[in-house]
Amino acid sequence: MAVTKTVEAAKVREAVEAGQTLFGENYVQEARAKASEVSGAEWHFIGHLQTNKARQAVGLFSLIHSLDSDRLAVELDRRAKAQGLIQPVLIEVSFGEVTKTGVPEDALLPLVDRVLALPNLRLAGLMCMPPFFDEPERARPYFAQLARLKERLEDELDVELPELSMGMSGDYEVAIEEGATLVRVGTAIFGRRACALRP
Ligand SMILES: *Cc1c(COP(=O)(O)O)cnc(C)c1O
Repeated sequence: MAVTKTVEAAKVREAVEAGQTLFGENYVQEARAKASEVSGAEWHFIGHLQTNKARQAVGLFSLIHSLDSDRLAVELDRRAKAQGLIQPVLIEVSFGEVTKTGVPEDALLPLVDRVLALPNLRLAGLMCMPPFFDEPERARPYFAQLARLKERLEDELDVELPELSMGMSGDYEVAIEEGATLVRVGTAIFGRRACALRP
């Protein structure tokens, strides 16, 4: 997936013409604006989603990577139901104190149970964003841990979780070696962002 936060619509259009069709955005407003200006693109949400943005996010994004709370799950389900659709989601996992967003490992199972019980959400897998390292190898244990968690959930709950969203410009190769099915690459495609958003 090509991450297009702060990237202008004209550049996204160029990417579509070059054959890239899947894009990731961190902000709902920004994504809405670009989605109306760029045709032939599919959008995923990868930022932190506020509950009050759930209504706008549902349906706009074919996958929301960053589900991290019960409250957000319930709200997304409610909004998806109102729009008559099933919203695919990933749960974002955080590892210890080192990463700020996502649900801690020990709270993962209850949230998974919750999401599986909501009829208008479809849980497609897990996402993580390890702390930033200059040395990509240092991110490997986090990716491996996310892959293990996914397998454990599949075994214990008898569900299929096809997607593992992990890896960014600096470490996507390591992430793929550890089983990533979706890498989120921004800078390596579009160059450095003008202002540092997340991260
Ligand atoms: C910005 C961002 C990316 C892309 O990061 P790059 O280092 O530019 O490839 C990936 N995932 C998330 C969640 C992001 O916010």
